Amino acid sequence: MIVVMKSDATDEQVAHMIRRVRDMGLEPHIIEGTGRTVIACVGDERLKAPEGLAVGAGVEKVMPVRARYTIASREVKREPTVIELGRGSLGGSALGIIAGPCAVEGREMLLETAHAVKEAGAVALRGGAFKPRTDPYSFQGLGQEGLGYLAEAREATGLAVVAEVMAPEQVPVVARYADVLQVGARNMQNFVLLSAVGACNKPVLLKRGMSASLEEFLLAAEYILSRDNERVILCERGIRTFETFTRNTFAVAAVPALKAATHLPVIADPSHATGRADLVEAVSRAAVAAGADGLIIEVHPDPETALVDGQQSITPEAFAHLVESCRAVAEAVGRSL
Ligand code: PEP
Ligand code: MN
Repeated sequence: MIVVMKSDATDEQVAHMIRRVRDMGLEPHIIEGTGRTVIACVGDERLKAPEGLAVGAGVEKVMPVRARYTIASREVKREPTVIELGRGSLGGSALGIIAGPCAVEGREMLLETAHAVKEAGAVALRGGAFKPRTDPYSFQGLGQEGLGYLAEAREATGLAVVAEVMAPEQVPVVARYADVLQVGARNMQNFVLLSAVGACNKPVLLKRGMSASLEEFLLAAEYILSRDNERVILCERGIRTFETFTRNTFAVAAVPALKAATHLPVIADPSHATGRADLVEAVSRAAVAAGADGLIIEVHPDPETALVDGQQSITPEAFAHLVESCRAVAEAVGRSL
């Protein structure tokens, strides 16, 4: 249920309604929209009678929210959430591109990639320091040493840094170095981790689980939002199907479907969605045409020697080409890049 305050409601009236909601045993979350404040009431509201709230001073109306993901829902906040990221942002009319290697493999390769993707127009640098690997004997990432290289690359380029966090105990160290915490597909329903990143004051890039429905995806985002972290970026990265031509199946419809359901920015990851460097640019264009707010692309200076995900990594030159071709599509759909 949400309490929509009148546009001229005073701070005291809002504070009073917040207390009333708490007294009912519900958790209030304040969402400031343009021109109105909404109090999202989270918790088990089955036994609560909302009538009393509706007559509160400064209240415009009390409405049920159909979606189970109350705070993430468009019903609560009509205008898009815009998240600042380095020199750009995600969720506004301009698109933002995050690019970099799957894993931080070393200082030189990271700095070289960072300068190249910045030059081509990226707003943020990605790079895993803690890697969730299917095979326990494969490269697991450089850990804190890798985070240090990411921070150095940020100093050198001004790019924001996106790095994955795999466990609640890694949140403090990753948050110390990175600007955005990535929760990977394999951890989308790690509810302890979701709560831990929710309690941290950094934007979270949440990737769709490989067999998660969109409702499960949005409920995972709701875990983070319900800890009062408003800055969640949703990432469609392909789902698992019977298809073997591509690593995953890119769910292009998920992009506009999510945009309709939530005010949160939605980006696409054509690298993991396809698993094939030769398909990344075309799928990037499709994502932009479908309304994505941004892209996350794996770029490696020498994909052939990459320690992780080389087959889907593109070169800096191919990345520069991708940005240009996506710019044309962005402009065709009324956006900029
Ligand atoms: C990654 O971004 O390198 C990654 C591991 O992605 P995902 O969690 O989507 O598989
Ligand atoms: Mn990867």
